[in-house]
Amino acid sequence: MNHPLKDQVALVTGASSGIGRATALALSKAGATVALAARRTDRLEELAAQAPGEMLVLETDVADHQQVREAVARTVERFGALDVLVNNAGLMLNSPIHGADITEWTRMVGTNLLGSMYTVHAALPHLLASKGTVVQISSTAGRTASATSGVYAATKSGINAFSEALRQEVTEQGVRVVVVEPGFVSTELTTHITEPAIQAMAKDMAAAMRTLDPEDIAEAVLYAVSQPAHVAVNEILVRPTDQA
Ligand code: NDP
Repeated sequence: MNHPLKDQVALVTGASSGIGRATALALSKAGATVALAARRTDRLEELAAQAPGEMLVLETDVADHQQVREAVARTVERFGALDVLVNNAGLMLNSPIHGADITEWTRMVGTNLLGSMYTVHAALPHLLASKGTVVQISSTAGRTASATSGVYAATKSGINAFSEALRQEVTEQGVRVVVVEPGFVSTELTTHITEPAIQAMAKDMAAAMRTLDPEDIAEAVLYAVSQPAHVAVNEILVRPTDQA
């Protein structure tokens, strides 16, 4: 069996479902030791029990920078290094801007944008030491905003901007920055939308196309992180073929 990530240590945020879960499993199958961060530890324990390689469960709310620092520290303490960070935790609470519940904006900015920045900040010293790779899970919404996705799109275009600045700062020191921009993937993401009409729209959209599976995005991440050290895959955009 091919193990391109043998002896590599990865940390995946939002590993309890969807894209994060599939990516953690793919990295483990490729030989990596994987630390799993999310709030639902029962899900993480279940994943760790079925993975082929060693995994570490880290109860983490990425919106809390102290918890993020602890998660990174525990990963390095346990496995001795950090080679791959998959910054994936996120939520999408789409609604029109007019009359929106702004506590949902705070949650999205705190988790998707600040949470991913905190994780980079905490992980960077270790990634510089290992000449590692940061994978930033953005979205097609990071390229093109659309009605009802204003704040979500702002967090994802913010991730893209932050990632480009980061790339320019660390690439000459051997750290690679990869932005992955998925289109519609079948996960729990849309189930958290609180506006019934937007929730129904998301369901209709999913029913009208062959959506991506989380494993399709895991494959893209695996491709990027398995390249030889001199190859930096900086951006991957993956849409369902049926998504216009
Ligand atoms: P899921 O809802 O299935 O997964 C989201 C993950 O994020 C869960 O593991 C959840 O874990 C974690 N998470 C949410 N909030 C926090 C928090 N405060 N602290 C730690 N972990 C948190 O959705 P997806 O797999 O679809 O989403 C993963 C990423 O992919 C997101 O960033 C999303 O924006 C992005 N994406 C998804 C697309 C799609 O169509 N599905 C398209 C483009 C991008 P827990 O609740 O246990 O903490």
